[in-house]
Amino acid sequence: MKTGDRICALKEEKDALVLAHNYQRPEIQDVADFVGDSLELARMAESATKPLVVFCGVLFMAETAKILNPGKKVLVPVREATCPLADQLTPGMLARARADHPGAAVVLYINSTAACKALADVVCTSANAVGIVRSLDAPEVIVAPDANLAAYVQSQVPEKRIIAVPPGGHCYVHQDFTRQDVFSGRERGDTVICHPECRPEVQEASDHVASTGGMVQILRGQPPGRGWTVLTEREMGYRLRRLYPDQVVHVRDDAVCRDMKKTTLRDLLLSLEQERYEVVLPGETMENARGAIQRMLEAGR
Ligand code: SF4
Repeated sequence: MKTGDRICALKEEKDALVLAHNYQRPEIQDVADFVGDSLELARMAESATKPLVVFCGVLFMAETAKILNPGKKVLVPVREATCPLADQLTPGMLARARADHPGAAVVLYINSTAACKALADVVCTSANAVGIVRSLDAPEVIVAPDANLAAYVQSQVPEKRIIAVPPGGHCYVHQDFTRQDVFSGRERGDTVICHPECRPEVQEASDHVASTGGMVQILRGQPPGRGWTVLTEREMGYRLRRLYPDQVVHVRDDAVCRDMKKTTLRDLLLSLEQERYEVVLPGETMENARGAIQRMLEAGR
């Protein structure tokens, strides 16, 4: 039996739900029960009814699934698949920022560790960061750990002062895009969409700034044959072409998140077979982080 078929059989046998992020390898996306962005996956994890959830993505995503559904067994196929952006923020940095700006609200990007989320007022994703910040009463808001997302929020919510912590926090995949990528797309006649983790000058030059879930929405229902340059991780191209085979989607082949590619079909198979590696978090961290994540989910309802 092929690996993919064995995975599908094991999903049935173990009554397991397999979730995969948009940046996962194509073959993982093909066997997953649901593929989406961080917000969609958080919602899916919250409402999961199956006893076993296998999360193909990076560690903070599996932690979020566990926090939202503590009664379920949540597995991450590769423990070493972490997010270098999330690792740029520590609880100590966040505590110092709070002390320096006592009146500021703390909005934490979902790309952060559970220990940091436990210290936040509310969590956000790239899909809802602007709406979450706008809904707060505080005139000053700490946004961590992605400074480009913080800059995007500042451009959309000028009435508040946004404080980026750390000041240079970034995702190395999105930081690599330049205005030249936007111009190259335009020369092809494409509409250009960039992720809010891209640099501010790339955001300003693009036609749209959107989360990966937002990109899915933008392309929905478009006339056939339209060209799109999508400035985000390469595998988003696979996802969009699969959803919209009549659209022409360009991505940069070297825009690769190494951690998102650590999970292979074999890792997923072993994870299902041996029920490894279970996500375990301290009870207090889970409880505090859950409050901040649920405030985000409730804000979107
Ligand atoms: S693409 Fe960037 S933000 Fe997303 S998991 Fe990889 S390093 Fe982290």
